Amino acid sequence: MTVNIVAIVGRPNVGKSTLFNRITEARTAIEEKVPGVTRDRLYGTAEWCGRTFAVVDTGGITFGESDRLAGQVRKQAELAVEEAQVILFLLDGREGPTALDREIAVQLRRSGKEIIPVVNKIDRPEGAVEVPAFYELGMGEPLAVSAAHGRGTGDLLDRICALLPRAEDDDPYPADAVKVAVIGRPNVGKSSLVNTILGEERVIVNDLPGTTRDSIDTRFTYQNQPYVFIDTAGVRRKSRVKEAVEYYSVLRSLKAIERADLALLVLDGSGEIAEQDQRLAGYVEQAGRGLILVVNKWDLGGKTEKARDSWLENLGRFFSFAPYAPAVFVSALTGRRVEHLFPLIRQTWQEQHKRIPTPVLNELVEDAQAVNPPPSHKGRRLKIYYATQPAVKPPTFVFFVNNPELMHFSYRRYLENRLRDSFAFSGTPIRIKLKPRQGKGD
Ligand code: GDP
Ligand code: GDP
Repeated sequence: MTVNIVAIVGRPNVGKSTLFNRITEARTAIEEKVPGVTRDRLYGTAEWCGRTFAVVDTGGITFGESDRLAGQVRKQAELAVEEAQVILFLLDGREGPTALDREIAVQLRRSGKEIIPVVNKIDRPEGAVEVPAFYELGMGEPLAVSAAHGRGTGDLLDRICALLPRAEDDDPYPADAVKVAVIGRPNVGKSSLVNTILGEERVIVNDLPGTTRDSIDTRFTYQNQPYVFIDTAGVRRKSRVKEAVEYYSVLRSLKAIERADLALLVLDGSGEIAEQDQRLAGYVEQAGRGLILVVNKWDLGGKTEKARDSWLENLGRFFSFAPYAPAVFVSALTGRRVEHLFPLIRQTWQEQHKRIPTPVLNELVEDAQAVNPPPSHKGRRLKIYYATQPAVKPPTFVFFVNNPELMHFSYRRYLENRLRDSFAFSGTPIRIKLKPRQGKGD
């Protein structure tokens, strides 16, 4: 299954990170929950016209200080060309095309990839007179946007969607197979864990693993349930841009996450939780996939009750945006407690697919409002008329309200907590969407 990647390329200061934040903003709840973790992020996911795709801000990928500016941008463009299906070539509408823009245009055109020239900082309609100048780059019709204000970004997303290859139905695995991405920093024990699991007596490996560009997929059966493990550890692909090891590794994880139902995030129980662990968990949350925290190397990690408590506390703090994620302490080396993973995987998968009947849901919504009425905002009060759950994986709820703008994030969190108190949804993110609806007497 192809995972679509959209890369943003362009000179410094043209607005790449601003555009990145705008495109990915709609889906992310972690910004508000964990200040800092996503501030300098380069990777995110976006959803538009029913498609999801990964978005990469190549401007944040830097290579040794010795490289000059032009060299940096050239390498960033090269990375984009290598991995992305669609490239957004971002330009500054207030400056007109520069020499470096022309140089990058030549490089991008040669790649044969789908490229959208995007002219940014057109904050007002009058600014659009500058746009035709960018035809000169020979990449087709430039699209005017204002990343800062959101002008034109809907059109941009439409154009991205139109260019994304239709690859939704090429998942080679049976629909009932539970697809599990095994992710984590290098050396935390991902390969060891996969080997230990596959070596278990009751695990029947179906056939030879399928190797994709980015992962090794192993199909197996355990207690009559088919599984696919998507393992990113073993792949050490040679790449043209040598300094970009981390970039490739993150991209591999992103792709694995997108293809999976849920992820095992393997952590080094003999060390400490790193920012990269947090980021990986953030991608899983953003992609709406299930998450299980696997604290590995527990044979070294302390074993004591006290060490465990201290780890649990740290997990709660570092992964506060995903309090639903269960944690398990294992040793891939000795095999200890590895068997506990299967019940957790099964449970998470079931929770991801859980549907709450509308009447039950509405009883909860009514009760939630009665116990804790929405606070009024500028003299107006949010009213929730009713709710439904139109989708699973992740469980998604639509609340029909008088005015979505009256929803405060703390009330949204309260509703999410109420949903979780009643229905758990252990291991999976849930989504709450709001739709305006006229109520009786409004
Ligand atoms: P990057 O270096 O390409 O990632 O650029 P940034 O996203 O950091 O933006 C560079 C500067 O341009 C910042 O001061 C932004 O606030 C500003 N900027 C970005 N997009 C727009 C826009 O649409 N309109 C205006 N007026 N300024 C913008
Ligand atoms: P990966 O890069 O995440 O796939 O990590 P590996 O599976 O290659 O493991 C990295 C190192 O950690 C190897 O030397 C493993 O033997 C060791 N290792 C993996 N799991 C455990 C464990 O549970 N306990 C101990 N003590 N070492 C482990």
